[in-house]
Amino acid sequence: MSTLVIQDLHVAIDGKEILKGLNLTLNTNEIHAIMGPNGTGKSTLASAIMGHPKYEVTSGSVTLDGEDVLEMEVDERAQAGLFLAMQYPSEITGVTNADFLRSAINSRREEGDEISIMKFIRELDSKMEYLEMDQDMAQRYLNEGFSGGEKKRNEILQLMMLQPKFAILDEIDSGLDIDALKVVSKGINQMRGEGFGCLIITHYQRLLNYITPDHVHVMMQGRVVKSGGPELAHKLEAQGYDWIKEELGIED
Ligand code: ADP
Ligand code: MG
Ligand code: MG
Repeated sequence: MSTLVIQDLHVAIDGKEILKGLNLTLNTNEIHAIMGPNGTGKSTLASAIMGHPKYEVTSGSVTLDGEDVLEMEVDERAQAGLFLAMQYPSEITGVTNADFLRSAINSRREEGDEISIMKFIRELDSKMEYLEMDQDMAQRYLNEGFSGGEKKRNEILQLMMLQPKFAILDEIDSGLDIDALKVVSKGINQMRGEGFGCLIITHYQRLLNYITPDHVHVMMQGRVVKSGGPELAHKLEAQGYDWIKEELGIED
């Protein structure tokens, strides 16, 4: 089992504190969802874990099986088994989707133990078929001219090919039609298991109709303020966030 521990994390952007002591522990074999109002720091959390230079960690820690993630370079975080959809540049001209994936897989392997081309192609083909993706997507330049739905599907393809220990998926459901939403969910559900843990950041309960999370957390004003099971997401969908603010005495 692997564990990702976020402890008392404080993060500032341009000197303004956005995360104000966030605590969260993820284990493999668990799916967690974070919900919360706009502007509460959900994407900041994802960006800080991925090591985006604009996000300054002012105190607190993030560890993966005891290793200090915050000390790692961005590519070292990926090699350690973290998958952050946004770590990949939105468009890379001249690099095909397949080339990109193969080099990303190999960068996590020892030298001399690179994946064979045949094995890579077999896996890529079967996973693209599973995600109902056009085979020509493999030879297209990464994200160039991909529609919103194709980008999201492609992120799930990356996830399934790279087999990380932990994935943090920020609004993977935004802008998806219902068919794409089902396919994306199918991919995440297939990843579920012993060696994989996932943090899904979402505004809407909708995605959680297809992926039942083990734990649901509410984030407000830069902290996790409430945690529960899947029923918490249903309650938020029905009642919004005001009851939590009242319960906790949080002012807007
Ligand atoms: P959420 O994802 O929960 O909607 P964000 O993490 O995107 O919230 O934003 C939290 C706060 O940080 C907001 O007030 C937002 O304006 C601010 N913020 C986020 N990213 C940046 C940035 N790159 N530069 C300046 N302010 C930012
Ligand atoms: Mg603190
Ligand atoms: Mg966001």
